[in-house]
Amino acid sequence: MSFFLKDLLFEILFPTRCIFCGKYSEGFVCKSCFEKLKFPKNYCGMCGRPLTGSLEICYNCSKEKKVWDSYEFVAYYDGMWKEIIASFKFKNKPYLADFISQIGKEKILKREWRIDYITYVPLSYRALVYRGYNQSEYIAHFLGKNLKIPYGPLLYLKKDIKPQKSLNLREREKNVLNAFGVIEDKKVSGNILLVDDVYTTGATLKECAKTLRENLSLNKIYVFTAVRALI
Ligand SMILES: [Zn+2]
Ligand SMILES: [Zn+2]
Repeated sequence: MSFFLKDLLFEILFPTRCIFCGKYSEGFVCKSCFEKLKFPKNYCGMCGRPLTGSLEICYNCSKEKKVWDSYEFVAYYDGMWKEIIASFKFKNKPYLADFISQIGKEKILKREWRIDYITYVPLSYRALVYRGYNQSEYIAHFLGKNLKIPYGPLLYLKKDIKPQKSLNLREREKNVLNAFGVIEDKKVSGNILLVDDVYTTGATLKECAKTLRENLSLNKIYVFTAVRALI
């Protein structure tokens, strides 16, 4: 197949138009729209809340029992990022995960995390049927590809959980309590990167990290999400 044909076919299968202005671009967001995207500057290294001054960990996190060792994310769930996540989650554009993971890769490299294995938060069966794919798995897949680190499932859902969106913090914690298990034949050790799309209250991520810690002999657990939603 000629290069032209290959490109043409690729263009038909994966047209790359900027999701904001509709212009053809090399990625999902064109250069001029990319410049308008906001990225966080000073934030807590455990939960992503904005920080002022020279602190590395926020007051809340310094008082709480730590469930994971470090946290990183691409942007706050706000403005243009809401559109990116919406088209990623609901308009069947899983390839946006590549865009997110390329930014994520740079941030992870800066943190100098030594990751042995990348895994992700599993989706409920209901959500998987409805959406057809797990958006967190796509992010994990592309992070693995871009960082050259193996990735795969480690966790599964033991019970059907309600969508967290409709619940308050206490209900969310109850909803996911003991909801996860580790896939039996998975023997992973060392440092794990746990991936999800959005971090809101952290209830799901905390339960997942706790389950990983209790069932595997791990050293460090790092957490990465595409966005951090402040409530
Ligand atoms: Zn654009
Ligand atoms: Zn914090």
